[in-house]
Amino acid sequence: MAVQKMLKFLDLSRDMPPKRDAEKRGHDYKEIYAEFADAKAKEQASRCSQCGVPYCQTHCPLHNNIPDWLRLTAENRLQEAYELSQATNTFPEICGRICPQDRLCEGNCVIEQSGHGTVTIGSIEKYITDSAWENGWVKPIAPFAERNESVGIIGAGPGGLAAADVLRRAGVQVTIYDRWDRAGGLLTYGIPGFKLEKDVVMRRIKQLEDGGANFVLNCNVGQDIGFADLQAKHDAVLIATGVYKSRDLGGPGAGLDGIVTALNYLTASNRLNFGDKVPEIENGELSAEGKNVVVIGGGDTAMDCVRTAVRQGATSVKCLYRRDRANMPGSVRETANAEEEGVEFVWLAAPKGFVGETNVTGVKVAKMRLGAPDASGRQSPEEIADADYTEKADLVIKALGFEPEDLPTLWNQPDLAVTRWGTVSADFQTHKTPMDGVYAVGDIVRGASLVVWAIADGRGAADSILTDLNNRATIAAE
Ligand SMILES: Cc1cc2nc3c(=O)[nH]c(=O)nc-3n(C[C@H](O)[C@H](O)[C@H](O)COP(=O)(O)OP(=O)(O)OC[C@H]3O[C@@H](n4cnc5c(N)ncnc54)[C@H](O)[C@@H]3O)c2cc1C
Ligand code: SF4
Repeated sequence: MAVQKMLKFLDLSRDMPPKRDAEKRGHDYKEIYAEFADAKAKEQASRCSQCGVPYCQTHCPLHNNIPDWLRLTAENRLQEAYELSQATNTFPEICGRICPQDRLCEGNCVIEQSGHGTVTIGSIEKYITDSAWENGWVKPIAPFAERNESVGIIGAGPGGLAAADVLRRAGVQVTIYDRWDRAGGLLTYGIPGFKLEKDVVMRRIKQLEDGGANFVLNCNVGQDIGFADLQAKHDAVLIATGVYKSRDLGGPGAGLDGIVTALNYLTASNRLNFGDKVPEIENGELSAEGKNVVVIGGGDTAMDCVRTAVRQGATSVKCLYRRDRANMPGSVRETANAEEEGVEFVWLAAPKGFVGETNVTGVKVAKMRLGAPDASGRQSPEEIADADYTEKADLVIKALGFEPEDLPTLWNQPDLAVTRWGTVSADFQTHKTPMDGVYAVGDIVRGASLVVWAIADGRGAADSILTDLNNRATIAAE
């Protein structure tokens, strides 16, 4: 009789891979979760209830065939599990590490809904693809035949890279332009190593390079090369530039030294971990060492900043957020990780200004309470009168979110259509902008979003570009 490999959720409880001790991990930038042991991964995969209508799959932006690759893992058919997993996801090991699974696949797992604890989908996805890399199952990009058409991609973040991967596999010539000196976008310079170690990103970039993708780094489109030049040079252009204008805070003292933006802070730290010389860390400007640090904001970027400050040796790290824990946008998992590492959260606290002579010495804080729900249904924070106080700070990091840069002006392209939020207008199915041969994906279309959405967009845009190139070739042949 065949052994029943699945539906073990009644007998087996949910288990995550071991997490490194908070005291030890707070001194380095290595990932905090270990890999599942082989037997544990199979066991945890076998908890899946193999739903007829898998809500995990529906709520995964890539519609990954999760129940099937869980079953193959439980059956010890790991290479097949990998083949299936990579068929819908360009970077499964990256998503397995950094997707907010509690809001996506795992949050919609049926056994989670029935109180048994979700299948640990993300950790198993990571395990499958890490095993594939170890075992040499990850194949080089080797197109069946080369094509003459070329596509110019602006931005080497996950959106641009996912598109490049699909296009190169189809034999299209691909050039990726990026203003940074390393490819990867926020995977490389935004997200810290303790969530995503950098060699995981770099081996994917090498795979693309080895597969014939051409990277033009240190190239700021609009400055070093014109957008119109790219249109003239390539058969199609894909905009995948992300969102980089940091939301700012005004108020008294806003110009004091020691008040920095989250992305400058995180980029400097990531650069240092690559072994680069970073004068802003050497001179203390972007270093938290020995300082009382206050991070303002409640999203995942704020969580990355507080945890980086812990690792840099801050004296104290506080996170100010104007709503409460229940209304915080940051992932529950990352907030808990930060608390374990010694970060103090100050809920219902909004900055009103900064104090100090030359360098900041404190943040003026207004105490808040939650009032009536606003149009979105979220309770609006209201200031409590006469309850202001000063929070001691030598370094203040502003993590208040990002907005798009003004691309039509920067690129001298008044016809590049943007929404009222400044994001590039593109069709969500075809990823086409109203400009002929120009497509757009990722954060520059959605506003600050997620890696998995950028990958989904990039893959979709590549398919759309291929269809258009094929149609063009057919018409030319007639
Ligand atoms: C600190 C931080 C932590 C995050 N953590 C997570 C997380 O844990 N999980 C998650 O899913 N998402 C996370 N995100 C969000 C995620 O990183 C983004 O949604 C995702 O990277 C968007 O991909 P993208 O390809 O659209 O843009 P990006 O990754 O931003 O890449 C855009 C690229 O375009 C380049 N570029 C921009 N303008 C030009 C130009 N004019 N010329 C040439 N190149 C240009 C940039 O240099 C960059 O390399 C985080 C974001 C931040 C800031
Ligand atoms: S890509 Fe993200 S949402 Fe989809 S299965 Fe993997 S971890 Fe879940």
